Amino acid sequence: MSNNNLIGENLRAVRTRMEAAAKRSGRDPESVTLIAVSKLNPAESVETAISHGQLEFGENWVKELLEKETEVAHYLEGTNAAKSDDIKWHFIGHLQTNKVKQLIGKTVLIHSVDSYKLASVIDTESKKKDVITDILLEINIGDEESKYGIAPDEAVSFADSLKEMKNIRIRGLMTVAPICDDPEANRPYFKKMRDLFIDIKAKNNDNISMDVLSMGMTLDFETAIEEGATHVRVGTGIFGARDYGNKA
Ligand SMILES: *Cc1c(COP(=O)(O)O)cnc(C)c1O
Repeated sequence: MSNNNLIGENLRAVRTRMEAAAKRSGRDPESVTLIAVSKLNPAESVETAISHGQLEFGENWVKELLEKETEVAHYLEGTNAAKSDDIKWHFIGHLQTNKVKQLIGKTVLIHSVDSYKLASVIDTESKKKDVITDILLEINIGDEESKYGIAPDEAVSFADSLKEMKNIRIRGLMTVAPICDDPEANRPYFKKMRDLFIDIKAKNNDNISMDVLSMGMTLDFETAIEEGATHVRVGTGIFGARDYGNKA
């Protein structure tokens, strides 16, 4: 099968499984958004996905996101597949504070806010551009040494500590659950994310407007949906295995 057909087939299969998971848990399938994680895949793969109706993409590195966004926008000028304004780019990787400035205004949502410093730089840079930037707080739900993210025990007070930042809007939480072959094993973590989501939402601070729970990847997105995910981030399941090359 050509790469084009494969991406189309994969997208259809993932969407079908998402819909089934939503229905199983009594949720409206429309309430769950698929983010196609295109990191390390070329702009052509994104363009193929767009031709199959996919409009939301996730990227892990600022430079790669900006380059791909430009390339895809240029491509779309010559087609009627979609308008470049319709494409939403999510930033899902670890974000260095010195890269924030370039990213503001280029992404619909930054999923990976994991420190006070980072939140503060996003706030400052957003203020300079007179915009409010939507962010998620990244939670290290498995309390893993190797992962970025706020410890679950500190999540509520962390959210509260950002309350004076008027140019960010906390839209929800994101996590990368522990890697495992058995999606059931991550269910308790997803449940815990949902509990934290409810606790932080209850804070009602001016810059908290929570409606996003970003969790679930190729191996566990169905379990995540059953536990309340509003956004799942699927890469390999759509684009195939990635070549990390020098980024591993
Ligand atoms: C790479 C990545 C994904 C996608 O992972 P797959 O297992 O390929 O679906 C999702 N979320 C984040 C934060 C990632 O870095």
